[in-house]
Amino acid sequence: MPSWMDDDLDRRRAAGLYRHRRRLRSGQGATVHHRHANLVNFASNDYLAYAHDPRLARAAARAAHHYGCGAGASPLVTGLLPPLQRLERDLARWEGAEAALVFPSGFQCNVAVVSTLAGAGDALFSDAANHASLIDGCRLSRAAVHVYRHNDLSHLDELLRAGGEARRRFIVSDSVFSMDGDFADLAGLLRLAREHDAMLILDEAHATGVLGAHGRGLTDSLAEKDDRLVKLGTLSKALGSQGGFVAGSGKLIDWLVNHARPYIFSTALAPPAAAAARAIALVSLEPERRRHVLALADSLRQRLRALGLSVGPSACQIVPVLVGEAQAAVDLSRRLEGRGLLVPAIRPPSVPDGTSRLRISLSAGHTEADIERLVGALSERRL
Ligand SMILES: *Cc1c(COP(=O)(O)O)cnc(C)c1O
Repeated sequence: MPSWMDDDLDRRRAAGLYRHRRRLRSGQGATVHHRHANLVNFASNDYLAYAHDPRLARAAARAAHHYGCGAGASPLVTGLLPPLQRLERDLARWEGAEAALVFPSGFQCNVAVVSTLAGAGDALFSDAANHASLIDGCRLSRAAVHVYRHNDLSHLDELLRAGGEARRRFIVSDSVFSMDGDFADLAGLLRLAREHDAMLILDEAHATGVLGAHGRGLTDSLAEKDDRLVKLGTLSKALGSQGGFVAGSGKLIDWLVNHARPYIFSTALAPPAAAAARAIALVSLEPERRRHVLALADSLRQRLRALGLSVGPSACQIVPVLVGEAQAAVDLSRRLEGRGLLVPAIRPPSVPDGTSRLRISLSAGHTEADIERLVGALSERRL
């Protein structure tokens, strides 16, 4: 290995920023098996506990049996296989959109949509706390990128005014921010989009399946459809499968199919994953799951605050516990693991310097007793 790699990795170790992958002996669920212990799993984004659902596992197995394990080629080369056709149709119907387009991952979908819609001569306005996939989409686009302070709409307004020369304008935001669990001001973003003749690209990755009256995310709160809105979601989190999607007008989807390089030059989502993602049907039928996970989050936040811990602006199933320095967050995470609790430490560059934290992800598979154990461990003075 070249020495510059060693040097870099050594520096990361010294700063508490070195990353490694835990080798699990089980699938993702409310508990995971690691080494010789079962850990209560507060690290997965399987918010509705669908990743292990036997109904979806059977659907995936049937799809593998009938259509194969892989899609074979780009959908533009081989064509769309039946499970993917059904999924796109169901997603469009669920979203109340004319059409939906499914990608093999949410990351790929976001990079594709942002970098394809915006090009040279355009301007992108991006929230400082946006997900890496949106940031990389901005970088690839060749458009001018203006980053506004997190959730600061007056700063966004200022930048939009200054960026008036651009050919086209796009505002880009997560709807639920992945490291703080706080929300974007959707109505405010849409108002600014209208005022400045911009489109709004909204990433609902952490909201899909969990938030909103119908579990479709923050866009559930909109009284009417807005043509300026391009909505992104993932199949990989609450829906328990794999993949990403964009929903919108038939024209938008047609245009992306013709222009989005990450779509055109990549093999389609595999049939078993497409079949399992039909968990969207269960989201409507089983609203008690999202109620349960959100109620657990409320209860957890209250108890953590009572211990004097800071949970930041969290308002959903993602609950951070702010620690500060990277090494301190890693140490705390390791001690929790010693007590049978898997709670990841989140460090720069995922969050700004000095704001390293534990990130607790709740799932409908968790119980009050799991929360009790976590709060009990965090309340020990010598932890
Ligand atoms: C996880 C995530 C994605 C990427 O989705 P995958 O399907 O996991 O690739 C996109 N946006 C946000 C905000 C995310 O948290």
